[in-house]
Amino acid sequence: MADLGIRTLPVRNPRTGAIDFALPVSSTEEVAAKAAKLRANQVKWAAMPIGDRINVMRRWLGEVAKRNKDIAAADADDTGGCHTSYLQGYITMGNIGGWIEDAEAALQRAIVEGPSKSMPQVEVRSQLVPYGLVGVISPWNAPMMLALLDAVPALFAGSAVLLKPSEITPRFIKPLFETVAAVPELAGVFDYVMGDGKTGQDVIANVDLVCFTGSVPTGRKIAVACAERLIPCFLELGGKDPVIVTEHADLDRATTSVLRGAVHATGQVCFSVERIYVQESIHDAFVDLLVKKAQEVRLNSDNPRAGHLHPFTFAPQAAIVARHLADAVAKGAKILTGGEVETIDGGLYMRPTVVVDVTHDMVLMRDETFGPVLPVMRFKTIDEAVALANDTVFGLTASVIAGDEAEALPIAARINAGAVFIQDTFLTFGKNRTIGTNSFGFSGVGGGSRTGPESILRFVRRKALMTQHGEPASILSDHHLAGPGAA
Ligand code: NAD
Repeated sequence: MADLGIRTLPVRNPRTGAIDFALPVSSTEEVAAKAAKLRANQVKWAAMPIGDRINVMRRWLGEVAKRNKDIAAADADDTGGCHTSYLQGYITMGNIGGWIEDAEAALQRAIVEGPSKSMPQVEVRSQLVPYGLVGVISPWNAPMMLALLDAVPALFAGSAVLLKPSEITPRFIKPLFETVAAVPELAGVFDYVMGDGKTGQDVIANVDLVCFTGSVPTGRKIAVACAERLIPCFLELGGKDPVIVTEHADLDRATTSVLRGAVHATGQVCFSVERIYVQESIHDAFVDLLVKKAQEVRLNSDNPRAGHLHPFTFAPQAAIVARHLADAVAKGAKILTGGEVETIDGGLYMRPTVVVDVTHDMVLMRDETFGPVLPVMRFKTIDEAVALANDTVFGLTASVIAGDEAEALPIAARINAGAVFIQDTFLTFGKNRTIGTNSFGFSGVGGGSRTGPESILRFVRRKALMTQHGEPASILSDHHLAGPGAA
């Protein structure tokens, strides 16, 4: 075949280990050209009344509904067949549908109109001006959901969006953008480019605001590049999320919840449970029951739709998890079940892995593991548990499971994290459309909330229009800068 000069990146299939997809890499010139086109179209998009934009997005929702199955299949190919792959179409519809309900009111609430409190003769009026072009750079885990979590509200706000998905999981782009192409007004303001970190940097060079989801080291590079251009960036980074289980907790409920929170999607979730602190008197019984339940979990190696754990999506992640476990064992930890990376038909799998006798000297308790690993550590007092939970550079989410909500709430209030789940783990979906959150520490940077209706305000600048209804002050007056009541 003739060499057309298009650079491609090899993409590995997580179930077979085979390289079965060639990702065409967007050149620097292509990124700039797409950005310029989106920027030009955005002017009309932003000038539309919000109700008209909502109608366009409603048509897109209909197109996503039509392609629901293809979207699910592509996400399953990308990830290796996560449980939530099969829900991706519905999750996307929920995202778009949620903003159809919330966008107009959320923007309206940010508008101030009336007399100025400090200069009552001056009338103020807000104008919300969307950022022209938002760049979204997304990770390989939950690839479709995380590509759209910020892109959708940005579009509702009136911005255009240039998406760069992860080069590890790019297959969902085709069915997704077929739905976009079916809505021409949307296709004018929503596009994608493909490639690795170099393409990510090209995106940053061309946009007005960046939403990044990914690792801490890359987040740091994004922050530096955005600082150079003096453009805002919102960074959603990793986590090392703790759960505290007190002696009054119901053991059956606590183990069910902790196991799901740690191993869902093979632990490849930013808000996975990564550290488990259990009060001394129930520690042994908790661990026994956790091991028993962990051993009932099945791999989905035979059939992506049957079984509970899918393969590692990104092959090097299996080596990272193995390294964390080896370090822990070398420092005295014991693996009670799981712990091996198993190669099945080319895919890399790990069963739920319960580890005890862990300490904070181990990498397993400090760095993000991103695998189906449950390290359990005992504590004596609640003060000790809170100190252990807060002994981290991260602060994404946390969980507290106690005898009841009244016991758990004061503990939750002391944990440094953007969301604390009480009497369960993994309640993240509960917050997305309902309540604002800011991550703590290295888990997130950038001010505005990523969740809740006000998260749309990250994509607009608030401009103040001010009318003088009184007499303009004269420069010749002694008091021309003084406020009301000045002598
Ligand atoms: P990553 O940082 O390796 O890559 C993320 C994206 O950044 C990819 O699209 C990649 O191509 C791009 N990129 C890489 N180098 C770049 C550069 N120099 N300039 C611009 N772009 C660049 O992250 P990953 O491994 O794909 O994702 C896993 C990480 O994401 C985990 O740490 C996980 O905790 C985190 N994550 C966080 C959240 C959250 O909401 N806080 C959600 C999911 C995942």
